[in-house]
Amino acid sequence: MTMKQCRQLISLLLAFLLLFGGAVLSEEEEEEIEFLPDDEVFLEDTTDYGDVPWNFPVDLQDMDPAMIRLANKYVLLGKDYKPDPIMTMVRRKANKDGSNANGGVNKASTSEMKLQKECGEALVAMFEGALQDGITLYLKSAYRSYQTQNTMYYNRLKNNHGKDDGWVSKPGASDHQTGLGCDIVSKAWRSKAMNAQFAKTKEAEWMKEHAQEYGFILRYPKDKEDLTEINFEPWHYRYVGIPAANYIMNEGICLEEFHEQLQTAIDQFLEDGGNPKLVEPYIQRSAE
Ligand SMILES: [Zn+2]
Repeated sequence: MTMKQCRQLISLLLAFLLLFGGAVLSEEEEEEIEFLPDDEVFLEDTTDYGDVPWNFPVDLQDMDPAMIRLANKYVLLGKDYKPDPIMTMVRRKANKDGSNANGGVNKASTSEMKLQKECGEALVAMFEGALQDGITLYLKSAYRSYQTQNTMYYNRLKNNHGKDDGWVSKPGASDHQTGLGCDIVSKAWRSKAMNAQFAKTKEAEWMKEHAQEYGFILRYPKDKEDLTEINFEPWHYRYVGIPAANYIMNEGICLEEFHEQLQTAIDQFLEDGGNPKLVEPYIQRSAE
């Protein structure tokens, strides 16, 4: 092939590529326009909300509404509320020398335990962090469906002469239905009935000090029983994400107080003319 023929061939190829590429591009453009729903164009909010300040210690973008979801007897979760995505917790395997291998959690029972994925991964990291400090934690209870909670609640009532003693939440009111609530214990407490004495263990002390570093909070603190209406549970930790966990634990507040403060900040933001779309996902309504 001569130099001239070669150049001709290259320019022919380039022209072909341009034509071909152009055709593909215009096809994509056409498709995109076809896929755009008509009403979306007209529903777009063109209001200028200005620069309304968000007066709350945690930025909106640092909080995932699903992770700070409140569940209690006043703010109920629906029958169909499930963690999304969900993961099955893998049992941590022991190394040949008897030490713990990476990649799972120690479980208090052989039954399958599930958690919301982000929470489950944070839990693995927390168990790993504890091990490095010589603390072995066990997961005793994780996600519970509405139906399971329903059975537990009515069994408890039956065994307690029909009286609600505050130990088992009503269906829809359990933090475990969020898939973000975990009952975490020490080796000795794996098969024991839980009570406040657990707070005296080194495992409970470690969690109280370090859980927030992994995005977990103590869900039912001792001095907040009048607000949570749940007895002190030094074993129940709740994932909310690191920024919210740091704020909640440093302030020594419970999730109910956090939500009250958040709602006040939302009301203020809207009163100042802030964009309702930004805060709408953070407003929680009871399923009933
Ligand atoms: Zn619990």
